[in-house]
Order: sequence, then structure tokens, then C-alpha cells
Amino acid sequence: MRSTASPFEKGGLRGIKGDLTLANPPQPWQNHPPMLPERSTREVQVGPVRMGGHNPITVQSMCATRTQDLVGTLRQIRILEAAGADLIRIAIDSKKDVEALQELRQQTDAALVVDLQESYRLVEDLAPLVQKIRYNPGHLHHHEKEKTVSDKVAWIVERAVKHNCAIRIGVNCGSLDPRWQERYPGDDIEAMVASAAEHCEILDRLGFSNYLVSLKDSDPQKVIAGNKRFAELRPDVPLHLGVTEAGLPPEGIIKTRIAFEQLLSQGIGDTLRVSLTVPFDDKGEEIRVARQIIQDVKDGRFRSVPDLSGLNIISCPSCSRVENEKFVELAMAVKEMAQYAKEYDVTIAVMGCRVNGPGETDDADLGLWCAPNFVNLKKGEESLGQYSYDDILPRLKSELDVVIQSKSH
Ligand code: SF4
Repeated sequence: MRSTASPFEKGGLRGIKGDLTLANPPQPWQNHPPMLPERSTREVQVGPVRMGGHNPITVQSMCATRTQDLVGTLRQIRILEAAGADLIRIAIDSKKDVEALQELRQQTDAALVVDLQESYRLVEDLAPLVQKIRYNPGHLHHHEKEKTVSDKVAWIVERAVKHNCAIRIGVNCGSLDPRWQERYPGDDIEAMVASAAEHCEILDRLGFSNYLVSLKDSDPQKVIAGNKRFAELRPDVPLHLGVTEAGLPPEGIIKTRIAFEQLLSQGIGDTLRVSLTVPFDDKGEEIRVARQIIQDVKDGRFRSVPDLSGLNIISCPSCSRVENEKFVELAMAVKEMAQYAKEYDVTIAVMGCRVNGPGETDDADLGLWCAPNFVNLKKGEESLGQYSYDDILPRLKSELDVVIQSKSH
């Protein structure tokens, strides 16, 4: 599998962190008896990795680099492998990304999963290269409107079967299938569960059982509620747990821990992804944090559920779709600037791209999503305009002042 041809050689592995401690461990701890019950799910095979059933809970992460940046992405794969990732996800949006993945595949034996957005047809070329395909039911209605969603899924499944790939049905509160949103207005959790259940039925009818489901949101309480409801409905289906856009450590770790503690202690969750906004070279932290949470739940060490009222900054963990590498710096600067508002119940969302940024900032009081040369500012669903990376912070601050004032009355 490994080739000697190497556009990668200039990228070293300097700076990989090896320690397995949890950064900023939250206090205080509550001690309980060991709490990692048996799970009832069936086993799923993802290349060499078995998930679900009686297998240990696996841990995964995603490359934050541009997929076409071969050196950077291979370095990111190595960083995640060194941190102990069982599975590594790569975002694919174009034919050029597929070509990049072909190159990367020559350089690594890591179990890989691709994350698809609207371009589901890329599966044809991707399936031979990876062990798992993630599709989002909320993204299958955009292209080829004359085709039914079931037909598109059948097409994906055919390729998955041919190349022995597993599938993840990845439902996100921020990008729900509009049919389910209309059916359950104001109840994202029910819409999310119904959408996941519908796709499980499609795969079941096709006779395909090598699949998992994820139900994600940036609010840990929604993640808990959605996964509990789904697990009641489909106790056989393995679950991939994650809190999207959890944000910067330590808050991002705390939000994730809240959700994972509640679910893992009830036997819900077969594989985990921790999503943190951290510099590319620190991505291994996502793996270390996930393993630490599993170990703590296993040992009965729980964090008391903190009060999440007050300032809430959500930010995506970034991925190859990030439009400007200043994104992580921007998220950090927003957090620092907004500290003066920490007593107020204000949510600020900072997202890295136009793919998920516009939708996933809708529920925040103030939202930023990055474009290559400017940042889009939103107040709820309303766009307030575009600002340069230099101008966005003062502009955000004046809007934050207005929001604080309205919350003070
Ligand atoms: S918001 Fe965009 S850049 Fe951030 S993780 Fe999601 S897809 Fe990637």
C-alpha cells in the first residue's frame, strides 16, 4: 500500500503531543460505581475496526486541513494516529479532493471515512479508497431533484457493498431535512430522530446492515435527548456520539463531557468524536479527551453537570472546508473580546465556512461565518453584512453591546 513517491516528505511530524492527560480537567468530581454498561447494538465492521456490540468504544476525529494540501493533511493523519485515533475522517467536496485522497491513500493504512456534502455521486470514486462513508440526510435533496432520496441512498449503498464500506447516517440539527422540520415545527429533536429512523428503514429495506447513526447538535442537552430517543426506537443500531461546534477548550470539553457522561453511563454510544476548536497541530487533543471521558465514566468519575447559563461561544472544530486559516485565531479572539458579557445569556457562533456556517449560526444571538477574505456577521437569521478580518471584532462588539442591552431590560 505505501509508495515511495512522495510529495509529503517536507512535512515532518514535529510537535505531536504524546501525553494523555486531559487539559483543564473540570472540578469537582463526583464518584459513582463503575458505569459503562453493556450495549445492545449490533456489530459494524469498518475496515479493520469493529464498532458496536461488545467491542470497546472507539474514538475518531477529522482532518482540519484542506484535503488538497497533501503535506498538511498527511501530517494531520499522522498526528491523529499518534494520538490513538481508530478512524480518521476527511471532508470531500470535489473531484480534486478525490484525487487528493487517492494520493493520501498511497501514504497511509489508517482506517478512513469520508464526509460527503451534496456531491453524493463522488462515492463512485471514493468507495474504493475508504472504509466508511458518511452522508447527511439533510443534504440529499439539493442536487438531482428529479430523483428520490431513496434512489440516491440505494446508489450509495450499492457502491458501499461493492467496496465493503460501512455507512454513517449523520444527522445534524443545523442541517435537517426540511420535510421533517415541516412535520415537527419547533421540535428539532423529534425531526432529527425521525430523519435518522427513516434512513435506517431505507437501508434495512435494501438489506444493508453495516451502518451507524449520529444525531448531533451544539447543545449537549439536545444531543442527550436525541440519542436517548433514538436508542429507545432502534436499540440495535450503533451510535456515533458527538457535540458539534463544541468550541474552544475548556468549555468545548465540558459541553462534550456533559453529553457523553449522560449517554455512555446508560449504555448509549459505540464510537465518539470530540469536536474542539484547536490549532491543527493540537488535533490529537480530541482523541485524548474522548479516551479520558470513556475512562472516567468506566471508573465512575463524573463531573457534576455545570450550569450552562451565561455567555456561550460555540465554534466549529474546522475541517478542510475552512475558508481562511485565520478561523481558529478568530474564534479565540471572539472568546477573549466577549468576556465582558460572561454574565449574560448570549450565544455567539463562529463557523469556518459557507457549507455549514450560514445554517448553523441561525440559532445564535450573533453568528460569524468565514469566507476567504471576509467574515459574514449575523444576528439570529438576519445577515448584518460582510466585514474584513481586521474589522469584524469591533463590529461584533458593537452588536454584542446591543444584544446585552436588550437582555438587560
Ligand atoms: S462549519 Fe465548515 S469548516 Fe467548520 S467544521 Fe463544519 S464544514 Fe468544516
